[in-house]
Amino acid sequence: MTTETILKVDRLSRRFGGLTAVSELSFDVQAGEIVGLIGPNGAGKSTTFNCVSGFYPLSDGRVTFFGEDISKMTTAQVCHKGLVRTFQHDSLLSDMTVYDNILIATFSMIRSKSERERRVHETAAILNLSDHLQEIAGNLPHGLQRMVSIAIAFATRPKLLCLDEPLTGLNQTEVGGALTIFRQIRDEFKISILLVEHNMKAVMEICDRIVVLDHGVFLAMGTPNEIKTNPAVIAAYLGKRA
Ligand code: ADP
Ligand code: MG
Repeated sequence: MTTETILKVDRLSRRFGGLTAVSELSFDVQAGEIVGLIGPNGAGKSTTFNCVSGFYPLSDGRVTFFGEDISKMTTAQVCHKGLVRTFQHDSLLSDMTVYDNILIATFSMIRSKSERERRVHETAAILNLSDHLQEIAGNLPHGLQRMVSIAIAFATRPKLLCLDEPLTGLNQTEVGGALTIFRQIRDEFKISILLVEHNMKAVMEICDRIVVLDHGVFLAMGTPNEIKTNPAVIAAYLGKRA
């Protein structure tokens, strides 16, 4: 099988004053993969997302996307290259309709009005939001608000979609629905996914490979089965929760 490296994180470090949130982290994402990034609270997962997506400058190291150094790019530049992320806490325009939330995301990517409208409808259909387009986003139940957050990122049709704890607060049925959507986004739209998530069952079910972080330090990388049986991971992370 031939693979293409989409994202390469090379010895990424990020310090906040005396605190090293991420320390010399290296991993990659290949085309068509769903890669999990897991670790206990405070492990540095969101910081990694912030550095990869241009929200925080790196203290050290390099991030390349399709071979191009994006380490010093702004979020807008990174987005135009095809890398977008969602936030751990919803970042909707809660006073606006679902339609407008998704539409705004398309403005910088699509010039034609009719194309933009088409994109909104296509995006809503994938995220099961078609019946809610005219509702005020902030009035939707939590599970649907999570889907709107993903819709906003997905509407740009990135090459890599980074999801920060997208399943938080979803019930079991909603989690199942979301995993189906993630697979559809990957398979139909050829979008790779980098997934930060605490729901271990979901992570094990959907990820091709998993990267484990502990206190900002790379602990392990492997298939779900390799990670499940890795003694260092069990000791440092899964063991604590068992
Ligand atoms: P995770 O997402 O894995 O729970 P974070 O990346 O949010 O972890 O945080 C990693 C560490 O970095 C934590 O100790 C957190 O307090 C710290 N941190 C994250 N963002 C900031 C910030 N903007 N300023 C200072 N410290 C931060
Ligand atoms: Mg986080």
